[in-house]
Amino acid sequence: MLELQDIHTYYGNIQALRGISLEINQGEIITLIGANGAGKSTTLMTISGITPPRTGRIRFEGRQIQGMSPDRIVTMGIGQVPEGRRIFPQLSVQENLDLGAFPRADKAAIRQDLEYVFHLFPILSERRHQAGGTLSGGEQQMLAMSRALMARPKLLLLDEPSMGLAPLIIRQIFEIVEQINREQNTTIFLVEQNANLALQIAHRGYVIENGRIALTDSAANLLRNEAVQKAYLGI
Ligand code: ATP
Repeated sequence: MLELQDIHTYYGNIQALRGISLEINQGEIITLIGANGAGKSTTLMTISGITPPRTGRIRFEGRQIQGMSPDRIVTMGIGQVPEGRRIFPQLSVQENLDLGAFPRADKAAIRQDLEYVFHLFPILSERRHQAGGTLSGGEQQMLAMSRALMARPKLLLLDEPSMGLAPLIIRQIFEIVEQINREQNTTIFLVEQNANLALQIAHRGYVIENGRIALTDSAANLLRNEAVQKAYLGI
């Protein structure tokens, strides 16, 4: 479904990605784990067109997408939930969700998807007229995920959904990531510092170090890998 080939991404003179290659198959949950500054967020932002690569190729469903604008990439079926949620704090929950559906015109299906996100996160339905900025951190994460789902993505990019949240809420969010994958057949690319949890729901994983893929394997094998355990799982 998605293929990155030898991707190099820079911020001015600073090189963040140094030849990333990876692939994601339709229906998979794939996680990208790595230390602070390894290049995880940059990988997601490179795919979504926010920080385009300087060299390399990105193919999504057989079409090259590097160089396309971020809104065009959303229209192609790639949704992103950015690090730190980035909801619109002054707008209501409902207005945030309406904005998520911007690429679409199919009103009946949009209404159905609204019902679906309220089914996933009933609290958002209760808070639909409340300003996004007044929600708790966990609720803002739910809103950010729901806003992305309102565009009906085929591939959902999730950047550190667990950041700053209490363990119970994190567990709930991860269960819902699995549920979205199962019920909507949405392919998931999950970036996480909480490698342990991420590997528990993922099918496969990639380990990124200094802008390069250091290792890739099934999630089960990565959980058993001693180097991974030492570096990322605190074992
Ligand atoms: P974290 O887990 O801390 O969010 P990360 O793995 O997501 O880290 P990135 O945010 O992708 O890492 O950063 C990769 C590298 O690019 C780092 O060295 C970082 O300092 C650098 N970088 C990221 N954003 C910028 C920017 N806007 N300008 C300059 N350098 C940047």
